Amino acid sequence: MILRIGQLNYGRELRPYSLNAPLINKVLNPLLAKAVLWGGDFIALFLPRRCAGCDGGLMRFERCICLLCKEDLPRTRFHDDPTNRVEQLFLGKVKIEAASAFLHFNPTGKVQRVLHRLKYQHDMELGEFLGQEMAKDLMECPRFKDVDCFLAVPLHPRKEHMRGYNQSQVLVDGMRTVWPLPSVGKDLLRVVHTPSQTKRGRLERWLNVKEAFHLPDPESLRGKHVLIVDDVVTTGSTLEGCAMVLSTVPDIRISIYTVACA
Ligand SMILES: [Zn+2]
Repeated sequence: MILRIGQLNYGRELRPYSLNAPLINKVLNPLLAKAVLWGGDFIALFLPRRCAGCDGGLMRFERCICLLCKEDLPRTRFHDDPTNRVEQLFLGKVKIEAASAFLHFNPTGKVQRVLHRLKYQHDMELGEFLGQEMAKDLMECPRFKDVDCFLAVPLHPRKEHMRGYNQSQVLVDGMRTVWPLPSVGKDLLRVVHTPSQTKRGRLERWLNVKEAFHLPDPESLRGKHVLIVDDVVTTGSTLEGCAMVLSTVPDIRISIYTVACA
């Protein structure tokens, strides 16, 4: 088994990642993080940071993704196009203002590796980095400029407890460091635990998520332009369920933004 330490971020909170076993992530990572904090550069010599895209060693000035991979990220450039295929997913199903994705998803490529590390390897630093890049890419686009707040797609509390974090919330927290809007993540609850969606058919997925969300205080979002943030959009059924619940709020406007679209 290989263990790796993630971003060595001196002078601030350490956000390590390692691979596979959740137990290792939860128990060993904090210990390793402390060891790195104490050992600093010395330990860093033996535990090189790795690029989330190509797994190559990172230079000292690089953060999470090497410069080559960063340049090579397959950006969608969808944001100003109302006919883009992310937006098309919701056409005639739920009223949305605008929808877009930061990157194209390729099941065997860099974006897949990056998302896997964000979702399963506790790499909070990568989540923050991606959130920042996502925000920089979107915040000046006319259709998204007047967004009032961010809402991370919630996980069911049981799932969040098992994983230890909500990857969409990590993205939102990263976005907010460059686009300082409120996060209203706590306003929408996931009330039904939906088992893994990946092997289900479209109809089954949709039925699954349709009743999955609950908004306890709709008034808090009245008149707001809410940007729903998620990691990856495939069929759009989870985001649709989310948007359907939000659309019951008077005068709300809903937009959608994901790291990647499959
Ligand atoms: Zn790389």
